[in-house]
Amino acid sequence: MTQRTGGCLCGQVRYRLSAEPVVSRLCWCRDCQHIAGNGTANAIFPTDSIQITGTTAEFSSRGDSGNLVSRRFCPQCGCHLFADSTGRVGLTVVRLGTLDEPSSIRPVANIWSASAPDWACLDPGLPRIEHQPQSPQPPAG
Ligand SMILES: [Zn+2]
Ligand SMILES: [Zn+2]
Repeated sequence: MTQRTGGCLCGQVRYRLSAEPVVSRLCWCRDCQHIAGNGTANAIFPTDSIQITGTTAEFSSRGDSGNLVSRRFCPQCGCHLFADSTGRVGLTVVRLGTLDEPSSIRPVANIWSASAPDWACLDPGLPRIEHQPQSPQPPAG
């Protein structure tokens, strides 16, 4: 298993991942577009495999899915790092761009593709899920 590390833009928040991602996807929901100015590239990890140092601020809102989504970011530089959802308890989204080696994880699908802007570049080789995908299950045990 690869030990991955990452952090925010200013370095105040750092994290270490001690598991492989459950799944990795590009999200084109409208909330993600507000965060990134684009889609977001994400990987989902078991929450207890993420070791965080530093302080994060949090903003919660109801997603298009109906789930309450809490997004965590650095209060100093504004960089978004993590998201939790009432629709996937025990799993946490990590923003791929915050990894020290973002190429070490490859997204396998586009989700919420129906709300992507006309100019979005969606890899034609990846499946497109128009709205909310099925929730991944945390690994047993
Ligand atoms: Zn920061
Ligand atoms: Zn999204």
